[in-house]
Amino acid sequence: MNVVSVGGGAFQPYDVVVGRGLLAGAGQRIAPFVRGRTAIVSDETVAALHGPALQVSLQAVGIRSEIIAVPPGEASKSFAELERLMDRLLSFGLDRKDAIVALGGGVVGDLAGLAAALYMRGIDFIQVPTTLLAQVDSSVGGKTAIDTPRGKNLVGAFHQPRLVLADIDVLSTLPERQLRSGWAEVLKHGLICDADFFNWLGGEGGAGVRGDPAALEGAVVRSVEIKAAVVGADEKEAGRRALLNLGHTFGHAIEAELGFEEAALAHGEAVALGCCMAFRYSARQGLCDPAIAARVEAVIAAAGLPTRLAEAGQFAASNLLARMAGDKKAEGGGLTLILARGIGEAFVSKTETPETVLAFLKEEGAA
Ligand code: NAD
Repeated sequence: MNVVSVGGGAFQPYDVVVGRGLLAGAGQRIAPFVRGRTAIVSDETVAALHGPALQVSLQAVGIRSEIIAVPPGEASKSFAELERLMDRLLSFGLDRKDAIVALGGGVVGDLAGLAAALYMRGIDFIQVPTTLLAQVDSSVGGKTAIDTPRGKNLVGAFHQPRLVLADIDVLSTLPERQLRSGWAEVLKHGLICDADFFNWLGGEGGAGVRGDPAALEGAVVRSVEIKAAVVGADEKEAGRRALLNLGHTFGHAIEAELGFEEAALAHGEAVALGCCMAFRYSARQGLCDPAIAARVEAVIAAAGLPTRLAEAGQFAASNLLARMAGDKKAEGGGLTLILARGIGEAFVSKTETPETVLAFLKEEGAA
């Protein structure tokens, strides 16, 4: 078991506990943050698989709990679901001194976190992430949000959890594609700032993507350490936190063109492809050695993730560019891209010209 501390400067610090069998002892860890009761926000799939174990462990320390389950999937990050959730919390009678527990993937964490930020002007919440993506990314850092028809994550708040419990064992029920999708974010963390970690993931640690619990634990711990270091220094993305968007500007554009349909390309698959493109773009611009871009591609491909645009579909370069320019990360005239001088050496560039990016997208196979 490992404990990573997050924050300390900009916000109240909290622990991210990573280990095996944590759900069974969750009650004891959660007890200091709640009084006699709590609401567990989950989705129907996760509630059925892991809700009972969490409730039993809460009951063992005298905490009464009620599960509020939303339908699984991105569609639950909506005003309608937020309103229903608020109503359930009110009818359960939670007050300002109570806390809620988010048990699920990023969808549940984002929705429950926003509900916690808003309920009675803000109550505490605890994250029990159950997808690899949620364990290494969305449960840490305090970003919460819902979607609107105009775009994803456009309505939200920064609200840090009081505690995160990342139980590696709950990942054993996760569908393989979900695990691989989360693995893309793990690889991304190495690519941003830790070459040794990336090399480990490309070797022995690669067993994690095939479900090996020891490798998964190592991957989650190091990823959380990296994310904690970045968000601890820059909670609201004024600077360094933007590095976490490596692969996301290309990836989001591709996802948006595909209409964010899960079946077409999972988010992590888009991020993996986006990371490869960011490294190839960096190599094209003479910023990094082309052999490094090839090595990144080889490790990502070995994890079963896409590396080439053609694997995702057919795209018009001008449409992708328009999506990239419309991305919220764009500033002024130049395009903002996260680029790299090497593995573990990502940096923010705000001066990429649309003409260069367009030429690159065509070289990548876009029409
Ligand atoms: P998700 O929450 O939709 O979970 C994916 C699927 O896996 C769901 O069907 C869910 O029911 C199922 N599932 C979850 N845990 C399971 C388990 N242990 N066993 C079996 N099935 C399980 O998706 P996600 O990939 O975890 O999260 C995606 C969301 O996270 C997006 O909405 C994205 O915007 C958000 N996100 C937020 C941040 C942040 O900083 N807040 C960062 C990255 C992503």
